[in-house]
Amino acid sequence: MTDREAAAAQTEFVYDALPMRVSFGSGRLAHLGDEVARLGLRRVLVLCTPGRRELGERVAELLGDAAVGVFAGARMHVPVPVAVAEAGAAEARRLDADGCVAIGGGSTIGLAKAIARDSGLPSVCVPTTYSGSEMTPVWGLTEDGDKRTGRDPVVLPRSVVYDPELTIGLAAHTSAASGVNALAHAVEALYAPDVSPVVALMAEEAARSLATALPAVVRAPADVPERALALRGAWLAGACLGATTMSLHHKLCHVLGGLLDLPHAETHTVVLPHVAAFNLAAAPRAAAALSRALGGADPARALHDLNRTLELPRSLAELGVDRADLSAVADAVLARPSINPRQADHDTVLRILNDAWAGTVPKAATGPTPVEVAISTRSI
Ligand code: NAD
Repeated sequence: MTDREAAAAQTEFVYDALPMRVSFGSGRLAHLGDEVARLGLRRVLVLCTPGRRELGERVAELLGDAAVGVFAGARMHVPVPVAVAEAGAAEARRLDADGCVAIGGGSTIGLAKAIARDSGLPSVCVPTTYSGSEMTPVWGLTEDGDKRTGRDPVVLPRSVVYDPELTIGLAAHTSAASGVNALAHAVEALYAPDVSPVVALMAEEAARSLATALPAVVRAPADVPERALALRGAWLAGACLGATTMSLHHKLCHVLGGLLDLPHAETHTVVLPHVAAFNLAAAPRAAAALSRALGGADPARALHDLNRTLELPRSLAELGVDRADLSAVADAVLARPSINPRQADHDTVLRILNDAWAGTVPKAATGPTPVEVAISTRSI
């Protein structure tokens, strides 16, 4: 498909712009007070994880009188436990806070969203990983193993401050896995039923930025310009996640994580090349964009090679998955309504899972005509 054909093909779409302000740059944390003041906030509660309390205290100091406290109660969990959300909301009420500043990864930002859902308090987010949660109106809560997610505009952060210097402490392996997880948002946005020209441009640029920067970040984790490029890619990928409906890849990873208790980002790195090989055969515009972004004619192979360069896991076997469990995973995936550019039955999903289990080099597939699927719900 030529560039002209690809552009011509996308002349019918809906684009729902999300209302948020983004401020990006090295050292930008110093201007956080201006962002808080722009929103008219005078009594914010600073949120962080226990391990990052010192950073939370530094942020509170930076905000001076505009900060009323630090709640270092965010927990690494997928998604936020209800008890943590309730404790955060209670602290915000006790201090009569008028907003939150979340500094950290997806877990801390998830806590700000849970508080917003409970009380309507607006948030300013300062992401320190590549999760992309700060760009989405998606909340997630878990109680007694019951995971609930949903979309609500009230949880969308009002302002996001990206400072690449804050990501330097993120270990090389975590950065690489988190970055490929972000890349997965861009890949699935490109063939989403609600992709638009704006999202397609963002997704292609996200893939290009992440694929270029991540190997350099792994080689030299303290290189600020490469960290900036990776974070810019993560921002764009997060914006794609917030704007579109994710397909089979995200569904598979969600089920694998839930049923087999696998690490979130590493599951994405293993599965992505195999779902991409299957889906891109029915999504020529997405395949063309990814070829441009990743280099080479076969984007699925490029994703596999990127994982190898980044020394990330490439097989479910490496993650400790028993092959005998894969059929139940396929059943669970097909039991939920989902969206995908190509129809996938049990045998197909099982084949994808078996390839991911073995970590084979993905084979670019040709396949049946794309199926039209109605958009009923959005999910991540
Ligand atoms: P995380 O927020 O759980 O952070 C992992 C750990 O790394 C924490 O202990 C944290 O304190 C630490 N950390 C964070 N940044 C650091 C840094 N720069 N240096 C050193 N340590 C640092 O991990 P995550 O991957 O960012 O987020 C995962 C969570 O986000 C999951 O719950 C996932 O479901 C959720 N998520 C939600 C959305 C959404 O749209 N709702 C999108 C993506 C992810």
